[in-house]
Amino acid sequence: MSHAKKESFERYKRQMLIPEIQESGQEKIRNAKVLMIGAGGLASAAAFYLAAAGVGNIGIADDDKVEMSNLNRQILHDPGRISALKAVSAKQTLERFNPEIQIRAYPERFQTQGELIRILGDYDLVVDCSDNYPTRFALNDACIQTRKPWVHGAVYGFEGQAMTFVPGQGPCYRCLYPSLPSESSPDAPVGVIGVSPGIIGMIQAAEALKYLLGKGNLLIGRLLFVDLLEMSFSEFTVHRNDACPSCRVGKHCPP
Ligand SMILES: [Zn+2]
Repeated sequence: MSHAKKESFERYKRQMLIPEIQESGQEKIRNAKVLMIGAGGLASAAAFYLAAAGVGNIGIADDDKVEMSNLNRQILHDPGRISALKAVSAKQTLERFNPEIQIRAYPERFQTQGELIRILGDYDLVVDCSDNYPTRFALNDACIQTRKPWVHGAVYGFEGQAMTFVPGQGPCYRCLYPSLPSESSPDAPVGVIGVSPGIIGMIQAAEALKYLLGKGNLLIGRLLFVDLLEMSFSEFTVHRNDACPSCRVGKHCPP
């Protein structure tokens, strides 16, 4: 065994002891391509743990720059990276943490739906670490068109939610939110404590790994709601909406 191979084996040894993973599962994780939409608080947990698990290819899309007010939750960045592009900063952090995986930064806003669809073609799964409804709606429709699964996460204060969408199985995001919810003031920052995106981001990473391994029960049609003040985890069943315009489009898309 070469030195690099031995080091790699050592790095993932403990998780390969899990019956659901073993060496064959680790190979699936190593060959996986996962796109993170956003490089903020959710991605700080989700991308970090996917990199730790050895996901071989991680894309990170974010056109924002690091600000001091991000650092109560966005632990991919640090004070030395203020004003740096978040996607680039995240790439640097993750490459330092796990040099054996490939990280690609997309420090730009996807200008068109077509551009998003084209980039999705390079990935097996998407983790939604965005912070706004228009992005999630665009991602939902692009994932239906390209038949890509995605794991949604969102946080507010001490609360958060997560759900997994697999086109052709269960509802989509527009079945849950048929129209764009009106945000009181989209530009006003909402309060959040770092543990909320930390926990939800890790739930997203767990869902991503389960999907890649083909193990366990995913949050398909199950909206998980977490209230950290009450320390309660509740689950709501979400059904496919027969009138959903996105799902109707998806039916006409080739598998
Ligand atoms: Zn739908």
